[in-house]
Amino acid sequence: MKLKSKSVVFLALIAAANPALTTSQKTSSLMQSGSNSPARDERLWKEALRIQKSAIVVDTHNDITTFMTDEDYDIGTSSVGKYHTDIARMKQGGLSAEFFSIYVDKKYVTEGGSARRAMDMIDQVYRAAERYPNDMMMSYSSADIRKAKNEGKVAALMGIEGGHAIENSLSALRDFYRLGIRYMTLTHNNTNDWADSARDDAKHNGLTDFGKQVVLEMNRLGMLVDVSHVSDKTMSDVLEVSKAPIIASHSSAKVFSNHPRNISDELLRRIGKNGGVVMVNFYPAFLDQKYWDAEKARDERLKPQTDALEVKYKDDPKRLEEETKKLTDANPIPRPSLTVIVDHIDHIAKVAGIDHVGIGSDFDGVPSLPEGLEGVSDLPKITYELLRRGYSEGDIRKILGENLLRVFAEAEKVAKTDTRKISGEGNLQRINPGAK
Ligand SMILES: [Zn+2]
Repeated sequence: MKLKSKSVVFLALIAAANPALTTSQKTSSLMQSGSNSPARDERLWKEALRIQKSAIVVDTHNDITTFMTDEDYDIGTSSVGKYHTDIARMKQGGLSAEFFSIYVDKKYVTEGGSARRAMDMIDQVYRAAERYPNDMMMSYSSADIRKAKNEGKVAALMGIEGGHAIENSLSALRDFYRLGIRYMTLTHNNTNDWADSARDDAKHNGLTDFGKQVVLEMNRLGMLVDVSHVSDKTMSDVLEVSKAPIIASHSSAKVFSNHPRNISDELLRRIGKNGGVVMVNFYPAFLDQKYWDAEKARDERLKPQTDALEVKYKDDPKRLEEETKKLTDANPIPRPSLTVIVDHIDHIAKVAGIDHVGIGSDFDGVPSLPEGLEGVSDLPKITYELLRRGYSEGDIRKILGENLLRVFAEAEKVAKTDTRKISGEGNLQRINPGAK
């Protein structure tokens, strides 16, 4: 999910991000399964904070990188009320490792420069880690995450979002691995030359032969294969082809919201069998069908106004975004409670297994978050809700990070058992520009 780029195209993705404008109305049916009483059990809260502090907590998808790149946002300064993420709040939330999303908008497919955009963003993550060496540590492995945790630093990792970033070259894929990329989301909302997306036309019936080579090369390198955003058929093909367990870096369960971005029970089961992990996305439209329906209805209602804005500011995308946001802020949708996140965790744990679920927030990539969750510092509230529902400390640690670490370590092992010389033995296949 991306606030910036999509705001121009899809009003649906611009809900009220300003917490002051949201209501505390509890409209979601899912809410009822959550906390009925707003009163916090202080003993349980203390326990949640203790676990949060000692556990490895991994978030596999954060889009603050877009603002670091486009607005020159310095993650060492407070962004409370503006963004979901800054270093102080990462530490406050007990976060051990963040995967910074190297999100490449599809406009670069038509304009050119997908790989360059990815490189610009990668540079921003390194710059932040260099600027704050006591707080952030560039990390490239599951072992690095534990090392950073021991040193009291946030492990900074990177995942590419949108496989078009490799510009159809396995050589470029290897170069991104060398630069530190440790997962790649095969598509964003656009179908590319080798994989179908969940939000675009299916052109290849899943993965093409080249797409399969991309997956195998990622396996060989030890780069995690991420199936968030891909079509069901692509996901199914990846599950057939991949030699290592896969991840869905920021995806939720379809049973609660029939959104094309969400994962069906059948595929959840298969990801469980594959040994992979599904990291739950916090976007209310993915979490709660009622919210998504209300969002669609609102966007339909506001369409004449947004169409007019698009005409008026067609040459000024920044102003268009501001004006569109103003309009949606004035028409807020009641947000579901953050306890719905735990409904999704519960469900995935039941269907795929407790070893196959984690957290992929999509902070700063989504225009709104559930009620009670304003940013990365609120992560312990999820731990609290897990405790409240009777999850053991061991299971909570799995959900918070150990499951992802297991999958990461497994992918590293698969890479080691292959003949792993990055330069020497890799497949040289590429689709040349112009050839389809
Ligand atoms: Zn996304």
